[in-house]
Amino acid sequence: MRTTQKLYYKDQYLTECQANISRLYTEAVELDRTVAFPEGGGQEADHGIIHTPVGMLRFEQVKRMYGTPCHIEGFKGVKTGGVILHLINTDDLPLLAKLQVGMPVTVRINALRRARLTLSHSASHFLYAATMNHDYELEERTIGCHIKEDSARFDFLSDEKFDGDSLQKIESVANSLIEQNLPIELGSLPECPDARYWRYGGLEIPCGGTHLERPGAIGSLRVRRKNVGKGKERLICEFPEACPDVWRYHQGMITA
Ligand SMILES: [Zn+2]
Repeated sequence: MRTTQKLYYKDQYLTECQANISRLYTEAVELDRTVAFPEGGGQEADHGIIHTPVGMLRFEQVKRMYGTPCHIEGFKGVKTGGVILHLINTDDLPLLAKLQVGMPVTVRINALRRARLTLSHSASHFLYAATMNHDYELEERTIGCHIKEDSARFDFLSDEKFDGDSLQKIESVANSLIEQNLPIELGSLPECPDARYWRYGGLEIPCGGTHLERPGAIGSLRVRRKNVGKGKERLICEFPEACPDVWRYHQGMITA
């Protein structure tokens, strides 16, 4: 079965890699390896470019497809393997006709965007942990999350609105967790490398996203709610003091 090697799990600071085209689609390119993180677990996809022998392709969406279900308790829906598709900008689509399977290419991602998404994803876990600390029943009523460059949000099924007092408590718990600035530990289960987890102090969250090594760079988290329709509540966190660690990113080559 074809798979795409996920170099972002080998070294999440890698911005560039050599790869070969493993399949061509009408609007996408599948590679045998990539540094580009596909949309998943709420985290938006990387943006980047693929340098090919016939010209440059830009992509602003990356999707992971297929894979084998792991069926591990606590890691609902996690699959191992699978392929990664880089969806090519409309303007660059005519170039696809000139490409061939097996061609060597270079993939490069926008490092600042990745650094911001990484920080935002870590921030979202502190919002989530603080919200669960406030009301653990919301865990089963979490219906979505969206991690963007400058904010992150969770949606819950709830008839009760978060009042000002609750928001303040959630914000303060999240910030006190961040202020501890402990190491964030990422790992995966030996029986399924794509069943990944995030650990911080005594907290553990199943997560396949990219994360900071310590949360200090998030700065102070601000939490607010938004009305998104009857029976739903949205919590949003923003981090205006954030310092994304773009300097950590490098082009170093990983050899297969
Ligand atoms: Zn996560």
